[in-house]
Amino acid sequence: MLDKTKKDWQSQAAGIEIEGRAFIDGQYRDSLSGETRATVNPANGAKLADVANCGTEDADQAVTIARSAFESGVWSAMAPVDRKMVLVRWAELIEDHEDEIALLESLDVGKPIADTTGIDVPSAVRTIRWSGEAIDKVYDEISPTPVDSLALVQRLPLGVVAAIVPWNFPLTTTAWKLAPSLATGNSVILKPASNTPLSALRIAGLASEAGLPDGVLQVLPGPGGSLGRHLALHEDIDGLTFTGSTAVGKQLMQYSGESNLKRTFLELGGKSPNIVFADSNLEKAATFAAIAVFYNGGQTCTAGTRLIVEESIREKFIEMVAEKSQGWMPGDPLDPATAMGPMIDASQLKTVADYVDIGRKEGASLMAGGHQVLEDTGGYYHEPTIFDDVNNNMRIAQEEIFGPVLSVIGFKDAEEAVAIANDSIYGLAGAVWSNDINTAHKVAAAVRVGTMGINNYFGGDITVPFGGFKQSGNGRDKSMHAFDDYTELKTTWIEFD
Ligand code: NAP
Repeated sequence: MLDKTKKDWQSQAAGIEIEGRAFIDGQYRDSLSGETRATVNPANGAKLADVANCGTEDADQAVTIARSAFESGVWSAMAPVDRKMVLVRWAELIEDHEDEIALLESLDVGKPIADTTGIDVPSAVRTIRWSGEAIDKVYDEISPTPVDSLALVQRLPLGVVAAIVPWNFPLTTTAWKLAPSLATGNSVILKPASNTPLSALRIAGLASEAGLPDGVLQVLPGPGGSLGRHLALHEDIDGLTFTGSTAVGKQLMQYSGESNLKRTFLELGGKSPNIVFADSNLEKAATFAAIAVFYNGGQTCTAGTRLIVEESIREKFIEMVAEKSQGWMPGDPLDPATAMGPMIDASQLKTVADYVDIGRKEGASLMAGGHQVLEDTGGYYHEPTIFDDVNNNMRIAQEEIFGPVLSVIGFKDAEEAVAIANDSIYGLAGAVWSNDINTAHKVAAAVRVGTMGINNYFGGDITVPFGGFKQSGNGRDKSMHAFDDYTELKTTWIEFD
């Protein structure tokens, strides 16, 4: 793990075996057309592997297999205590292969190895283990009927669920979708992002090894615009769970309406406010202001991209954050000392550069960064970047950049801070920093987001729900509330003579 050196990781990477075939009916298989697509290492632009490029015919086959597994009851009718054992065993197997899976995720996504070993893999393990352990403690209801009646309110699996996930947290979002959907007895078809299919494919094989019956889980790599769309429009898929952009989320709602009204739950984008009052612990707030926006290269839905700072400390605080940003200069993901890796691909790097230009043209002041770096590596690296003098109407304050770009906005009082925070189409996450308990609570309550931190950023674990208000989505990942997205409530009313 972290005692491994960069050289150790590089030599492990040189010998790693990569599975690029789709996972269908308990086996790895080529796509029906035989087509493949290369997946690339964002750290150097080199090809990692050829991966099955599945199409609509693979989707139809996977749905038939998943439906038949569901109807057979091999998993859907299994006692929750037995499903628990499989999921817990699966979590153990992932843990047993943690270095290999962390390395795959680093190579495929460009995430620093310190993050994949310290955050992504442990979080996926915890999610799967926790959901497994929870599922045989969930009771159904008997409602308060008159004595001559009995009403049962039961939670039943939806049936066949499609899960579509993004490239920025492939393993984490895969676990957030698969753990509760499988725990509740569904059959599932997962479509990873085209850029990052490797960790999902690897853990699918481990699910089989853990005892997940064939046909219950399929992993189909392929393009969102054809394969993903086909799944979302499919008449025989009962539920769709999605993490990705708001633009695609809106399309998926339409596809549901155009097809069979499949239950559709969306975890979408964000432009999260991080509000700092003058009376807070400024050293800690500055450290976390940098973590909030530069962690994962800013390619994080909950990134604290709008730093909303009390005017009286604004100048000083920006200097503090700019100094912290030096610790986030990008580097080789396989170096355990690297805090920030590359952007996912050339197109995302260009998007970031375009937004830096837009910020300059809008009149914001560039205080740090602003450039691509490490070009000679062939990777897609960008400096941590800070803009001051940002007005909340500017595009760099309203639009999700998905890169290491911070927009700083000043405020005079709590009311103005809340108004700026809420002036967004998004409502995913945020934080407030103040040592006055009244200010902190009032501001936290007034900001319309799904997750709010007080004197922390990115706080939380599997025990709490995660999801958005407004155009950041609906539904919830994590916690017992995630089970709601994958189940229908059924009432059975019994009358006695
Ligand atoms: P994206 O472009 O929306 O893609 C997400 C997934 O949807 C990918 O698997 C993609 O496939 C697929 N897709 C694309 N078009 C589709 C269509 N018409 N029908 C069905 N599926 C389609 O998002 P991204 O760029 O990968 O990820 C970044 C976005 O995810 C950001 O907006 C970020 O905020 C959001 N996100 C949200 C959360 C959260 O929990 N709220 C967490 C992480 C990320 P391809 O890869 O083949 O295009």
